Amino acid sequence: MSQEKILIIGACGQIGTALTICFRDVYGVDNVIASDIIQSKQLITESGIFEILDVLDADRLNAIIDRYQITHIYHLAAILSASGENRPKFAWKLNIDGLINVLDAAKEKKLKKIYWPSSIAVFGPNTPKDNTPQSTIMEPATVYGISKLAGERWCEYYFKKYGVDVRSLRYPGLIGYKALPGGGTTDYAVDIFHKATNNEHFECPLSEDTFLPMMYMPDAIKATIDLMGVNKEKVKVRSAYNITAVNFSPKQLADEIKKHIPAFTISYKPDFRQQIADSWPKSIDDTAARNDWGWQHEYDLVKMTKDMIDNLEMK
Ligand code: NAD
Repeated sequence: MSQEKILIIGACGQIGTALTICFRDVYGVDNVIASDIIQSKQLITESGIFEILDVLDADRLNAIIDRYQITHIYHLAAILSASGENRPKFAWKLNIDGLINVLDAAKEKKLKKIYWPSSIAVFGPNTPKDNTPQSTIMEPATVYGISKLAGERWCEYYFKKYGVDVRSLRYPGLIGYKALPGGGTTDYAVDIFHKATNNEHFECPLSEDTFLPMMYMPDAIKATIDLMGVNKEKVKVRSAYNITAVNFSPKQLADEIKKHIPAFTISYKPDFRQQIADSWPKSIDDTAARNDWGWQHEYDLVKMTKDMIDNLEMK
């Protein structure tokens, strides 16, 4: 029997969907409470316990923690990079006030562990772009990046000051087939697969040679489970760990897709997301994650592309 009672906040999103399905399998359906501000995904809302929760509503958050005797929270609700630029003040409010509500609940109710994802968006135009180190210049140019960097500082603060065992990863762009992405700059790398498998043309919002760090969702889920599973002493970074798997450009991804779907066509029409992408790293140094808790990725571009196409075609 699992000792863990897990609350997932933002469970209907791109990562939440994959994480909820995986956790219901690993920890048992009754031990995973999925929650979101909207009831948007039957897959999540009908395959186990589901609660409507706005993470900005601290009273309801605390009531749900008490009702289900929650021990672990995975807090995934956020406004992402591209959407955040349209609503900067609200992005700051949701991304920071939501996190602080979770950290306060963890502190007051002595929860065992909290997971909150950061992002490569914490880096900015003055950060070294190749093999970006764990600790370096961080001057993010988006409100999303600013909120993630501040969030990292809050996490480290709650750990040092109150002993809250909060852990975090700086995810690169994530690619998965179980859910559509929620307004990030790297969304193109998911959208392209949907167009290709529907035999549609894809107009890419980034230029063909924009290299960005990326990761296939099963690797992101594995990294999250690995980090949350290790002994406290091994978690030496209490802001957020750099992690990475593959780096590629839209052209390289399109060429790989064409090996499976030769008729696929792509054109490039960079929009406001190009400027965001240009401020981010091209590749990431994740030595600290690999040394501290044994992070290893499994999927490269070839393996990921085949798996994405196989799964979308099966759908
Ligand atoms: P998403 O936009 O797909 O999902 C976010 C979910 O949060 C949605 O289901 C939304 O309905 C829910 N939500 C929004 N406001 C809420 C509120 N007030 N209360 C409760 N729920 C609310 O995002 P995602 O891609 O799944 O990202 C999850 C986390 O991972 C975020 O913190 C994001 O910053 C981070 N991240 C994602 C990526 C990526 O490529 N997807 C990369 C780096 C970091």
